[in-house]
Amino acid sequence: MATEVLHAPARCTTWEYEWSLPAKLEEILRRSGVSAMVTPGEYVAVKLHLGSEGAFRTIRPVFVRKVVEAIRSAGGIPFVTDTTRIPGLEYLEVAAANGYSHLTCGAPIIMADGIFGRDVVRVPLGEGAPVAEMGVASAIYHAGAMVVLTHCKGHIGPGYGGAIKNVAFGGVGRRTQDDGVNRGHLHSVENLPPAWNPRLCTFCERCAAVCPINAIEIEKTVSLKVNEGVCDRCGRCVRICHEEGGALSMPISEEVFARGMVEAARAVLSTFAAGKVLYLNFLQELQPECDCMPVADVPVMQDQGILAGLDIVAVETATLDLLDAAPPLPQSKAEDAGIGEAGDVLGRINQRRTRLPLEYAAALGLGESAHRLVTIHSKRRSKVGKPPREHRR
Ligand code: SF4
Ligand code: SF4
Repeated sequence: MATEVLHAPARCTTWEYEWSLPAKLEEILRRSGVSAMVTPGEYVAVKLHLGSEGAFRTIRPVFVRKVVEAIRSAGGIPFVTDTTRIPGLEYLEVAAANGYSHLTCGAPIIMADGIFGRDVVRVPLGEGAPVAEMGVASAIYHAGAMVVLTHCKGHIGPGYGGAIKNVAFGGVGRRTQDDGVNRGHLHSVENLPPAWNPRLCTFCERCAAVCPINAIEIEKTVSLKVNEGVCDRCGRCVRICHEEGGALSMPISEEVFARGMVEAARAVLSTFAAGKVLYLNFLQELQPECDCMPVADVPVMQDQGILAGLDIVAVETATLDLLDAAPPLPQSKAEDAGIGEAGDVLGRINQRRTRLPLEYAAALGLGESAHRLVTIHSKRRSKVGKPPREHRR
């Protein structure tokens, strides 16, 4: 029988708490079997992207807290986590500014690959991957179960940034260049730094400004140097330079990028027993770029709610099906790109085949695209009904 994917639509047309999106998430968590998935006493990773300075359209803490509470109710010990994207202590400051703290989320926020981005466990990748091994973030590697909270949006690499991207790039270490098992190897072939074309460079210096670790040195009108030993191969500078004419490029094809991403996701997920990872996709604030960038543009499609399931391919397929049916929003990057009707808005904006990683993932056995969509319209009322009037003010 096809796997079940739960969908809580974003619209709320009844003005009672049970019909709110947080309440619908409670219902999703009840029905998706968190209590059966979590073994009492085990550490459970709550994996999400904590955003960037300027990229504020991430998953709101109110939803993270609901997940944390469900894990605690099941007897698990939750921790909220992501891998370092900028150095760890600075990233924790960004997370706090974006609203993620122990107080708001109800659990500690930790860097899964350590504050230096070097705490990893080597896990082999499959044939066809760009490297033989990847360094899975140690806190994720050793966790007993994981709930993957993904803010769905666009991405310069695969076109659509969803759960596979979140698990792959967000589940591996940032800085282990010497060992050759870090995230950078998934972003560029043979770990080469961004390539510079002096003929196209305007020396605007925007790439140097956006680099989070000052890896770019520019001598105005003369030279630009990417410091190979410092550069994380994050691609921010390449993204910025697109707008200036494309003097910087990351040496990797769409196919190799997608294949490496899926192989990394498989490596991360291979560290969990079957049925120990739940995927929650938030189709909210669907902005056109990754939350790694230093801005968040306005959404290109209306909120579509939350999808949940135990099969990553099914959840991602359901996500893209919903997004394919969503019309583009005016006054957004979709309008800038001349997209006037529904259908793969993110793929057309980023000029990528957004289903390609799903095809690889299904072929590699990460899951199946076939699924049964179940709509959650509201939270089931408790047996005692509404709380007493004095508690409803
Ligand atoms: S952003 Fe591009 S054009 Fe501007 S300085 Fe950097 S490489 Fe040159
Ligand atoms: S890819 Fe570009 S922005 Fe990222 S670390 Fe390297 S030089 Fe800096």
